[in-house]
Amino acid sequence: MKIDPNLRFKILEKTGIYANRFGILEPKVLLTTKEVLEVPKEMTEGRRTSAYKYYGVSYMQHNLIFVNVRKMPDEKTLENTIVHELIHMRFPYLSHGKRFNKLVRQGLAGKTFAPYKKRK
Ligand SMILES: [Zn+2]
Repeated sequence: MKIDPNLRFKILEKTGIYANRFGILEPKVLLTTKEVLEVPKEMTEGRRTSAYKYYGVSYMQHNLIFVNVRKMPDEKTLENTIVHELIHMRFPYLSHGKRFNKLVRQGLAGKTFAPYKKRK
């Protein structure tokens, strides 16, 4: 998809809405590989020059996500990716798999989650 100011605004708006529903702080969103390269190296360590390969990347330690708009075939994939990355933020201990995918589906369907609290 081609990024323009209107699409940029829509993505940030969606991110805000989902972050709210998932009980997490709204992350900073990077939308181009150029933006990934512009943030301090330590923030994107491990997934910096390779970020272009993915639909999305979450840099959990820094409350930062990359949504690779140029790679997106359509809006559905875009929305999926936003929710996928935010589910990583809300469930940082969970890796990809059945449970993760279920949470993504629930998130897309409008489910809200109580804020994440670390267990003592
Ligand atoms: Zn993932």
